[in-house]
Amino acid sequence: MIKKIIKKAEYISSQPTWKTLVFEKSHEYAFIGRSNVGKSSLINALCDKKKLALVSKKPGKTKMLNLFRINDAWNLMDLPGYGYAKASKTDRVGFQEMLSDYFNNRKNLVNVFVLVDPNIPPQKIDIDFINFLGENVVAFAIVYTKTDKSTLNKINQNIQAFERELLKEWEELPPSFRTSANTKDGIEKITSYIDQLNKEVELLKD
Ligand code: GDP
Repeated sequence: MIKKIIKKAEYISSQPTWKTLVFEKSHEYAFIGRSNVGKSSLINALCDKKKLALVSKKPGKTKMLNLFRINDAWNLMDLPGYGYAKASKTDRVGFQEMLSDYFNNRKNLVNVFVLVDPNIPPQKIDIDFINFLGENVVAFAIVYTKTDKSTLNKINQNIQAFERELLKEWEELPPSFRTSANTKDGIEKITSYIDQLNKEVELLKD
């Protein structure tokens, strides 16, 4: 029997800064990636709710920190997508500042899931973002999205190329997950990983 880990998921609020975020004592897991990488679809699949993450796509909320509460116990943070072609330089600087403030101050943040599209060759913006997490000493894992969209061969090639790029800066590869919101492949591995981290972090507290 498959254990359903996420039993309840609700939208809490969208904030422009970490300072006004609530539930600061609960474990938090953040999701981020290039716009259009499949973040909303992945969050909806994880929570088994068709339209949950639509709320953070509404006008005015795409640049905010969107907080969801899971099982009345832990937090899921939907971070704004990066790499909008039309973003101005001021917007980009503001975005980076908001994120480093969040990463440096949100003490209950346990792990960031960085979404990467393996249907296309490695993108500099993803590598730069992962290196930015490294500079901010943030724990992260990679989630490859939309793995149903290309042949396995092509997905493997792009992932290998991406990992080669990462290994230019990193000594070892982070945990990674291959997923598809369409077929639900790999979705449970992520919720199990979060469940495991929730238990490990709890143990560390004692
Ligand atoms: P976001 O902008 O990162 O939140 O991305 P969305 O979840 O809105 O997805 C962007 C596009 O990719 C949409 O057209 C989705 O239907 C499509 N998409 C998302 N996940 C998958 C997937 O697992 N497989 C395929 N084939 N398409 C997907």
